[in-house]
Amino acid sequence: MERTLTIIKPDAVAAGHIGDIIKIFEANQLTIKAARLVSLTKKEAEGFYAVHRGKGFFESLTTFMSSGPALAMVLEGDDAIARLRKLMGATNPANAEEGTIRKLHAQDIEHNAVHGSDAPETAAFEIAYFFPGVELA
Ligand code: GDP
Repeated sequence: MERTLTIIKPDAVAAGHIGDIIKIFEANQLTIKAARLVSLTKKEAEGFYAVHRGKGFFESLTTFMSSGPALAMVLEGDDAIARLRKLMGATNPANAEEGTIRKLHAQDIEHNAVHGSDAPETAAFEIAYFFPGVELA
């Protein structure tokens, strides 16, 4: 069993896609172990995406991620990190495979509906970022 951090981003929350996206997680044996609706400050969004500091899209990305409520969740399952990434689809929805969350719900390369950790080390950092000290269900 492996754990990963997902965020249903502000675009997908505002568009009313929380239920559709959770349905995909549940249909694919990714179990919700923790969930929190967050309204990130700009500073919190910058901390979360610190690895992208200095990139051209950093300002825009962190403004977007602090623009409204987002749903952060810990998911658990076999090979959860890689399987979530596959279910999400490519960063740019124009390149995302049919049936993926981003193909279905993303608007563009930035407003792309969902986040998923990309490795065990980042999953550990990201879970601790949103759920510090929380005992997971
Ligand atoms: P992910 O792992 O697929 O989410 O992609 P990255 O870690 O590379 O990028 C983090 C997030 O930054 C993406 O999910 C997008 O929201 C945003 N992003 C990535 N690349 C670009 C880009 O070229 N332009 C803009 N505007 N946003 C981007």
